[in-house]
Amino acid sequence: MNLHEYQGKLLFAEYNLPVSKGKVIFDAKDAIDACDEIGGDKWVVKAQVHAGGRGKSGGVQLIDNPEQAIEFAQKWLGNRLITYQTDAVGQIVNSILIEECTDIDQELYLSAVIDRDTQKIVFIGSCEGGVNIEEVAKNAPEKIIYQGVTYGDKSLPEDATNIAKVLKLDEKQTDQFLPIIENLLRLFIEKDLSLLEINPLVINEKGDLHCLDAKINIDSNALYRQPELQDMYDESQ
Ligand code: ADP
Ligand code: MG
Repeated sequence: MNLHEYQGKLLFAEYNLPVSKGKVIFDAKDAIDACDEIGGDKWVVKAQVHAGGRGKSGGVQLIDNPEQAIEFAQKWLGNRLITYQTDAVGQIVNSILIEECTDIDQELYLSAVIDRDTQKIVFIGSCEGGVNIEEVAKNAPEKIIYQGVTYGDKSLPEDATNIAKVLKLDEKQTDQFLPIIENLLRLFIEKDLSLLEINPLVINEKGDLHCLDAKINIDSNALYRQPELQDMYDESQ
């Protein structure tokens, strides 16, 4: 079962991962209040569908005026968004995430999946984020690390440092990265995930790590023991 980005980010926040202040709306009339509540003078409006590639298809937009959030909501709510990850009819947009705008210095890639061969959770990381990771795998495989990890294992700090090196993190960011890996791992195990992807994980203008996107897949066979996640199911997708 897939989650929407805004649902994934609620889980991220629960696990102390660095996410943006944001608010989901289901009706264009709530756009101004949402921008006011978030504060600041720049926001990003993001159509919520179970597909990536929204940025390149007009489903993610930077705005500097709450009126533009209304326009964006009126344009997308009830309509279909087509991206390279959807089929030709696209996915219906029923909600929009409005969040504060992060000034991005660099976009990185981080994900986790289960590797059944080694019976481990494997983190996949790259310094080339924000783009189609399949392209990086094809054209620059040396820029991707696959690091198997075990929760509670003594080697976890070392494993995290290996990933941090490929992500080209500095010392401060590497210190921030270890608890990120630990918390993601705990989230992955406790919530029975089958896939987790943060693309992009960014370094913001202050030099701090921040999760700008969230893709979460829950193992459907384990849903019976995750009632609060079951409630997040969106039949429309
Ligand atoms: P998708 O993967 O569906 O295209 P993302 O959430 O990755 O959607 O957003 C696409 C791009 O938009 C990101 O790579 C990033 O450059 C930019 N972006 C997304 N959210 C924000 C934000 N809160 N602040 C600034 N830029 C953002
Ligand atoms: Mg993305």
